[in-house]
Amino acid sequence: MYNLYDYELEKLQELMLEYGQKPFRAKQLFSWIYKKEVTNFDEMSDISLSFRETLKKDFEIKKPKIHTKQVSKDNTIKLLIELEDDNLVETVLIRYLYGNVACVSSEVGCDMKCAFCASGLFKKRRELKTSEILGQVLLLNDILKEEGNNEKITHIVVMGTGEPFLNYDNLMSFIRICNSPFALEIGARHISVSTCGIAKRIIDYANEGLQTNLAISLHAPNNEIRDKIMPINKFVNIEKLMDAVKYYLSKSNRRVTFEYILIKDLNDSLKCAEELVSLIKGVCGYVNLIPYNEVIENNFKKSPKENVEKFYNYLKKNGINVTVRKEFGDDIDAACGQLRAKEVKNSES
Ligand code: SAH
Repeated sequence: MYNLYDYELEKLQELMLEYGQKPFRAKQLFSWIYKKEVTNFDEMSDISLSFRETLKKDFEIKKPKIHTKQVSKDNTIKLLIELEDDNLVETVLIRYLYGNVACVSSEVGCDMKCAFCASGLFKKRRELKTSEILGQVLLLNDILKEEGNNEKITHIVVMGTGEPFLNYDNLMSFIRICNSPFALEIGARHISVSTCGIAKRIIDYANEGLQTNLAISLHAPNNEIRDKIMPINKFVNIEKLMDAVKYYLSKSNRRVTFEYILIKDLNDSLKCAEELVSLIKGVCGYVNLIPYNEVIENNFKKSPKENVEKFYNYLKKNGINVTVRKEFGDDIDAACGQLRAKEVKNSES
């Protein structure tokens, strides 16, 4: 069975050719499933009865299921989603003034083993299919629709569980479906991919010629600290990472976001701020300081407010564009992987 949600337009057009159909069939199907949000072939009135029967035999239009839904005080919604093989992934809806952001997962578990992150507590089981990444956005859109305010997901960040650049092809199909005028029509500039630093894929991403954004999980201003908390740094050190970032910048006219979690006594000193300034001075980007979301399984502590302020001010004073990420949903395990970690632990114990 093919799931229609797995196919970006171009691939569906190729598939339609194999069925002896004209490529415009694919556009019709896109219009039914993404614009009219139909999940039943019987409703596709502009497709012949006989081809509808063929479609029914070989295709499905299937979203994953909601396993658990949590709503926080600030109306952030976190879903634990159940996949066909019973694996669980999480996805979050964050409501900013500028729009509704879906934070989606790209893999079941993660093997990057960043020391501070709850997602890496369990080994990667597999990569997500395009339909499973997209399904997260579609389920959030369904929830928004039920709320009745005529709202939709307007922004996407691939910052849930998993390393998106290790699931590159499915990620790119997902992005193209989100961005397609025949599907979800989410502006490329409203779509961001976050990576721990898979240099080769940063280059590929740059070569796609898209206007989508890139965020780098930097979290340390030098190799000594980064080696301690992010094993990927042993393969792609900061110099190699910055080379890839510079290549991306030379190809796109976008800015890069450097994510920097502030962890007490690890990377939050003024010396670190100084090193960070010299590392990224002149690079077209901005720093997003992230208050660390504590995870019970490790001993890292959130930076005290005064350190965050000093760090922020130092960067600002030295001409770096910097913001501090607002915290949402801290009452509902909104830090990456926390909800899934709880659920998987319960089921494994
Ligand atoms: N693998 C990708 C995307 C998933 S992680 C990446 O590394 O970028 C998304 C972001 O959340 C990363 O910047 C990650 O470092 C950060 N993160 C992970 N655990 C966190 C925590 N407990 N508190 C705050 N941010 C966290």
